[in-house]
Amino acid sequence: MTEAIQISNLSKTYDNGLTALRGVSLVVEEGDFFALLGPNGAGKSTTIGILSTLVRKSDGDVRIFGKNVESHVYETKLDLGVVPQEVNFSQFEKVGDIVLTQAGYYGLTRKVAASRAEKYLKKLGLWEKRNERSRSLSGGMKRRLMIARALVHEPRLLILDEPTAGVDIELRRSMWEFLSELNQSGTTIILTTHYLEEAEQLCRNIAIIDGGRIVEHCSMKKLLAQLDSHTYVIELSDPMTGDIEFGPLVSSSVVLDSQTLEITISANVGMSSLFDLFKKLDLKVQDLRMKSNRLEQLFLTKLEKLEESQLVQ
Ligand code: ADP
Repeated sequence: MTEAIQISNLSKTYDNGLTALRGVSLVVEEGDFFALLGPNGAGKSTTIGILSTLVRKSDGDVRIFGKNVESHVYETKLDLGVVPQEVNFSQFEKVGDIVLTQAGYYGLTRKVAASRAEKYLKKLGLWEKRNERSRSLSGGMKRRLMIARALVHEPRLLILDEPTAGVDIELRRSMWEFLSELNQSGTTIILTTHYLEEAEQLCRNIAIIDGGRIVEHCSMKKLLAQLDSHTYVIELSDPMTGDIEFGPLVSSSVVLDSQTLEITISANVGMSSLFDLFKKLDLKVQDLRMKSNRLEQLFLTKLEKLEESQLVQ
């Protein structure tokens, strides 16, 4: 199997002396849907920055589809689409032009560029907005526009940095569906997130990064097996009327107020089953978040283990 990315012993110390990465090694296979999970400041954006050559590494080796990103700048750029965390297009440019301009950077003919722009703006629900200036778009639309722009050259690998940070649940779900379809059609996807539930919903494999070191690199399944249950806080769009019978899927539930619930489910129950259950109960979910920060717990356990093993060596 081809490796979409292969990172060996990557280190980065910024000019101000801050060390962001300390010997990161990571492999993502072609076709994978991969999450790079980690708390703020862990080194996720720095890793992405180095993959897209926006940040210069201090040491190590980085390859995209077998090619070194520094010695094969153009070829690796053709294979890669990046959706950064911050909106970075001109607020005055028109939506359609933003995508067309990007196509120009990759040398696509006007005809191909126009048809790709149409294809991706339609897929991301922005076609009607193509003649409007981007500043008139909502926050969620701006994020979708960044995805359309990153896909215009149809890269084999798409990397998204915190794609759904601050995005409401409805939009988050539609973005997840879009990304899943894209992955099923063959695009390798890597996303960074600090939401375990996002990685859980989408990704087959994960790496956990903390303090610039990889502390876990395994399948999502294996990671979830380490957590036996999840507690979510769910906000509903409308107040509940009467008692709710959740059935066997939910191991416990607590009503916090008329629109807020806390429920615990077994770790092997997928998020989609949970959403299906809410649909069946006719409850509209406004927001959902993990209650206890289990991911943080997991980071701590991993780090403690790592430190112990280093002490032993
Ligand atoms: P994450 O994306 O996981 O939140 P980052 O890669 O942004 O983490 O940051 C990793 C570390 O590197 C942090 O300590 C951060 O403060 C530092 N860092 C990130 N970018 C820069 C920069 N341009 N200059 C100096 N330090 C930076």
